[in-house]
Amino acid sequence: MARPDLLGRLAIRTADRERAALLRRARAVEHADGPWLEVDGRRLLGFCSNDYLGLAQHPQLIAAFKRVADDEGVGSTAAHLVCGHRREHAMLEEALAEWTGRERALLFSTGYAANLGVQQALLGSVDGAVCVQDKLNHASLIDGCRLAGAELKRYPHSDVGGAARQLASRSEAPALLATDGVFSMDGDVAPLRELAALAAREGATLMVDDAHGLGVLDAQGAGSVADAGLGVSEVPVLMATLGKALGCAGAFVAGSAALIEGLTQFARPQVYSTALPPALAAAALAAVTLARQEDWRREKLSGLIARFRRGASELGLPLMASATPIQPLLLGSADTALATAQALEALGLLVTAIRPPTVPAGQARLRITLSAAHEEADVDRLLAALERVRPTIIGA
Ligand SMILES: *Cc1c(COP(=O)(O)O)cnc(C)c1O
Repeated sequence: MARPDLLGRLAIRTADRERAALLRRARAVEHADGPWLEVDGRRLLGFCSNDYLGLAQHPQLIAAFKRVADDEGVGSTAAHLVCGHRREHAMLEEALAEWTGRERALLFSTGYAANLGVQQALLGSVDGAVCVQDKLNHASLIDGCRLAGAELKRYPHSDVGGAARQLASRSEAPALLATDGVFSMDGDVAPLRELAALAAREGATLMVDDAHGLGVLDAQGAGSVADAGLGVSEVPVLMATLGKALGCAGAFVAGSAALIEGLTQFARPQVYSTALPPALAAAALAAVTLARQEDWRREKLSGLIARFRRGASELGLPLMASATPIQPLLLGSADTALATAQALEALGLLVTAIRPPTVPAGQARLRITLSAAHEEADVDRLLAALERVRPTIIGA
């Protein structure tokens, strides 16, 4: 009996993907200077980072990082519950809890791990639990449900009626209703108030992944949940990341003291993982302070978003219904998306083509992201380049 060879299987799947022209490859950025990226020796104006507030290279973040690194070195050397939990982590957790209006917050090394950890802790040892999710939720929310062994039920994008039907189909089951706050590939905001009302009616627990909303939405940047006027009683489980608008890396979950206590006991991806470098926690704390105080970053960003949407709509480009810094152009075929990204690169712009399986088949797109680090002239340059490549996009 011949046992199938795992490495051989993997190689076959990779070759299949290559034949479908869907192979992915990371390119090494040689230098980053605000939105400008040097790749293959060429300086390109980037519209693909998630550094929405332009904080990743802020001098105060760098100074905080250096101060702690000089003092304490780089690694935290252990998990939080061993001896990796430093003063910098504690201060950051406090600041994040205060910002999001919750009793406590708990750090995770990545947003991916946070979504696994929360669902494992909430659903993992509960018989017959169900997790109802938007079809376009981030991969880590889907994978978290699988890890927890709960039944996954998905509803069409932002369809609250669909979510209601999924919950009603298992009306006796313990249920988590989980959604992205801002959808990462579409840029639209979830119908949070309606989902909160549904969760309350159905006795389900609502969880929001606000990776792309924190820092960007709400007057103080507290994110999509605060922007919808919802608090901890409507959205008891709030997750967000430190690697997007905050320009650092890592993530956290914020909620009641009881939630955080429970996660500390049972969220295995947090318990069994090395704590973030304390210098990074110090940089993230500096980022939180700036994100809360410097309203001009959000104002500048909205101005750039409006400018881009006005220009793109005048050009007849396939904009999506997004008011956030994620401004995708829906192109359909993966080949068109790739060809357009390449044509833009020839004109000195770096914009990523997002192809299946990251997005559904036939919905390949250019995922344009804007940042407070951009200037109006940068947006104009992007629009001028898009005008030149327009024949590739909508046919000559
Ligand atoms: C980026 C992202 C994550 C993962 O966060 P990382 O810290 O990068 O692992 C989770 N959810 C959403 C919606 C994201 O966009």
